[in-house]
Order: sequence, then C-alpha cells, then structure tokens
Amino acid sequence: MIVGVLAFQGDFSEHIAVLHSMHVPAIEVRSLSDLSKVGALIIPGGESTVIAKFLEETEVGKEIIKRIQRGSTDPQPLFVYGTCAGAIVLSKKVTGKNAPRSLGIIDITIDRNAYGTQLESFETEIRVKGISGKIPVSFIRAPKITRVGKDVEILAEHGGIPVLVRQGRVLVGTFHPEVRADARVHQLFLEMTRV
Ligand code: GLN
Repeated sequence: MIVGVLAFQGDFSEHIAVLHSMHVPAIEVRSLSDLSKVGALIIPGGESTVIAKFLEETEVGKEIIKRIQRGSTDPQPLFVYGTCAGAIVLSKKVTGKNAPRSLGIIDITIDRNAYGTQLESFETEIRVKGISGKIPVSFIRAPKITRVGKDVEILAEHGGIPVLVRQGRVLVGTFHPEVRADARVHQLFLEMTRV
C-alpha cells in the first residue's frame, strides 16, 4: 500500500521523511489522480484555511468524503490521519475565528487556535493507548478538541483534553509527532490500515 501525504501546504515533507525512515512507500498528493494511488492519507499541519481551500478547489476533499463513506466497499478503502490543521479540516464542526469549511468525517468539535498564539506553542510528552513509553510531541498553534461523539475513541489526552482520537478509518491528533521525528504514531496509523 502506498501512503499519501496531502501536499498543498504545511509540513508535508516532514511526514514524508518519517514514512521513508520506516521504509513505507510515500507520495505527495495534490490531485484526484494522486489520491487514486493511495490507500492511506496523512493531512499535515499548516494553515487549515489554506488547506481547506485547496481541498475544495481540486475536489480532493469531496473524493476523501466519498471514499470514507464507501468504507470497505471501496476497491481501495481509504484511511486518513490528520494532524493539527489536518485535524481541523477533518472535523464535523470547527469553532473559533475564521473557521474553515471542514470535511466533517470525524464526529468531533474542534476549536481553532484554542491554545493561543505562536508564543503559547509548546513541547511535551504524551502517553498513547497501545504504545508503550512516552512520545515527545509539539503543539504548534494547536486546536482543542471540545466535543467527542459517542463513536469516537480517545487514544491520548493532555491536561484532561483529548489530543488523539479515532473513529473507524479516521485518526485525528492535535499535536505534531513528525517534527520530533518519532515514528510511533505513524506506526499506529499504519497498523489501523491492516484490519
Ligand atoms: N493554527 C493552525 C490553523 O488553525 C493550525 C496549526 C498547525 O497546523 N500547527 O490552521
């Protein structure tokens, strides 16, 4: 299976680097034709307003929704992992200033820039269900998950707030594991695809 990283904007090259370090075939996704080649897609951090605009203009967003809705009846079922801005564009509801139109494929509400400005960005370590040890992560102008639907599983929390959640084939995290080059959350995502 080839893993795609949405490459309209944001830190897609860091995700590609983590995937390559794991010897996973990875490509940059910018079009419907790129998307048709992948069975898993990572939506990186960046500016959710910009990423949302490209998702709409290229119709890649519509195709992601379609493939997630088709589920296992899709010839190549799609799995999606969104980090930070990627989490925002996948959420059912986005609050906060200049909230972008999101794809609504995970039943959570997310509050954009809720931790504050760039100055309030921070690094920490978190524990993730199913992974042993602590994972070093960065929160960079991160959003906060403020509501989690009943079918959504919480895999990690920080300060009592969910920071990594999963619903079916969709995984969403408000932190960046890729900037610290730790591959364990990517590993967890890839394990999800081996159902
Ligand atoms: N603040 C950004 C946004 O709302 C997300 C930041 C990030 O992806 N690191 O789009």
